[in-house]
Amino acid sequence: MPDQQHTLLKARRLIDGTGAPAQEDVAVLIADGVIREVGHRDEIVAPPHAETIDLGERTLMPGIVDAHVHFFGHGTDRPFGGLPGDSRVYRALRVAGEAKRMLEAGITAARCLGSDHIGPSLRDAINDGHVPGPRMVAAGNFISSTAGTFDHLSVPLDFVKTDDLLADGVDGVRDMVRRRIRQGADVIKVGLSRSGVIGDNYQAWGEDPHDQIASYSLEEMQALAQEAHRNKLKVSAHCIGDDAVRLALQTDVDTIEHGYGINDETRRMLVDRNVLVVSTICQLYYHVQGAERFDYPEWARKLFDRHIEAMQADFEKGLAAGVRYALGTDLIGTPTHPQELAAKEFEMAVAWGMDPMQAIVAGTRISAEAMSMDHVIGTVEPGKWADLIAFSGDPLKDITVLQRVEFVMQGGETVVDRRSTGLQ
Ligand SMILES: [Zn+2]
Repeated sequence: MPDQQHTLLKARRLIDGTGAPAQEDVAVLIADGVIREVGHRDEIVAPPHAETIDLGERTLMPGIVDAHVHFFGHGTDRPFGGLPGDSRVYRALRVAGEAKRMLEAGITAARCLGSDHIGPSLRDAINDGHVPGPRMVAAGNFISSTAGTFDHLSVPLDFVKTDDLLADGVDGVRDMVRRRIRQGADVIKVGLSRSGVIGDNYQAWGEDPHDQIASYSLEEMQALAQEAHRNKLKVSAHCIGDDAVRLALQTDVDTIEHGYGINDETRRMLVDRNVLVVSTICQLYYHVQGAERFDYPEWARKLFDRHIEAMQADFEKGLAAGVRYALGTDLIGTPTHPQELAAKEFEMAVAWGMDPMQAIVAGTRISAEAMSMDHVIGTVEPGKWADLIAFSGDPLKDITVLQRVEFVMQGGETVVDRRSTGLQ
């Protein structure tokens, strides 16, 4: 149809995100932002008015989907950076910059699992075309029990309450889910584990990943999950340790974040129930990497070292057992955890034993499933939105090429084109 805007992309190689083998000498025909045809370049016939973009020797892939990120909009190198200090206007502008850089690095969709109003507002501003950024699903504020995962034990309770994230009791959690809906959440994020040690320095992580306890009762968590599901929202739960993962499984939580510090029996239950676990390696990796530069105290260095060790051990065991992983980074923002570094998650997943093709599927199709958007994004197939990236090299041989994306398309619009003219 002549009134449609057609684009024909040509590339040396396509990895389509379904797990199918790479295809060579491909073409992708896009009409009005939607993929219409995918195949060998000799077989795809574009209408005469179509714009042709020849990506030369590059590899074409679905845009990266980060299943777990945060847009807080505060400096992550400051203690309690999430507490008021910067104006909300400044924070909003800051996340707009972070989202733009993330998209330009090839992350075309992301699930924001905890911020405050900033997350849903950023999503809306992106959807309305005011600022560039990944397609987003956003949780709004965390939900936590008093003294639970996201409570800050070192500041007065009244102060924490100003953040509207604490909910206790069956009625309390139901009410809180409704407040999240009012805030514009399209997923519910709940903290289910906390340190089992009184006086622990860092409640959300806890000194020992194997010594965590569940921070909600079964009755509370059932009520929370039922209320979310009744409203057609998925539930994502921060879970470290057996107790929390078991509670998540008992209450039909949709995605388990982190999911380590567990025993083999719990791991078997994850496999049997086919529940998605979101990897979140980058959060710990960049804490360990940044400890020197950002002058982390000794106890924090030891804590993150201990956690990444436990996470790696369980990731390897999880792969062997058949746990289903989506890739999510848990990047929390600049300067310690810039969201545009999300492709590092693929490198870490492969370093910890994932097959490169498996990592690509986990960070595209399965991450899209974690976002409940797999019907429209996550693979390069007819009917899907044209969210695509291209880069030099073969990620099946060197997964780090995903960190050097040269071409980004979102909804059929070219966002980034860093191809040097000689290579076209
Ligand atoms: Zn997180």
